[in-house]
Amino acid sequence: MITEILHNIAFRPDFDALCRELHLKRDSPPADELAHLLAEAGPVARPKALYRLAQVQSCTDSTAVIEGIPFASRVLAVNLKPVNRVFAFVATCGVEIEAWSQTIEGTLRRFLADAVKEAALSAATEALQKHLDARYRPGPLGMMNPGSLDDWPTSAQPDLFRLVGDTRRTIGVELLDSCIMSPIKSVSGIFFPTEAGFESCRLCPMKNCPKRRAPYDEALWEQKYRRSH
Ligand code: SF4
Repeated sequence: MITEILHNIAFRPDFDALCRELHLKRDSPPADELAHLLAEAGPVARPKALYRLAQVQSCTDSTAVIEGIPFASRVLAVNLKPVNRVFAFVATCGVEIEAWSQTIEGTLRRFLADAVKEAALSAATEALQKHLDARYRPGPLGMMNPGSLDDWPTSAQPDLFRLVGDTRRTIGVELLDSCIMSPIKSVSGIFFPTEAGFESCRLCPMKNCPKRRAPYDEALWEQKYRRSH
């Protein structure tokens, strides 16, 4: 079992990309405000990630057992059937930028500060993926997160946190009774090798989701995930 903490993650947010994402004109007052907030947050932010290299022990029709912990999810069980090892992880924008954001006042500034924290979280997940790629050469990785699909709800969070380890002491992430994480701009999940690729969005019919990463594929559930009995 390998557990590792990544805490020296660089935070170099791309101002132009953030403006595009937020639909801000580059030389507008809100974009100026964003630039100010980025200048403040940059030196403060300490994005972090913790992962555990874990063994998949068995997969039944609807449950995957990882390091002795059963996870009830049909999609996870199908995805992990051909897999021996996975990377269970929690990544976060970090408590430092979270504390900074609590000092921000005003609706627009708070909205922009949220986007800056989101960018810090992206820096953490991207750094984690790069690290896993370089260290383990796992090939293409898919990712599943509790709560992305009804099939694997957020109630799986306590078991996932048990699998990953002490996130509170190591990277400052706490799982609340509501199964929400603090800082809120944190993400938990499982990376797994998959030649076919996997994207939760392909199984998610939600309309107009601003974070959609792949089109909804109505036939995919029937083709790959529906039980035969
Ligand atoms: S479409 Fe949106 S809600 Fe659905 S899985 Fe993708 S990001 Fe999540």
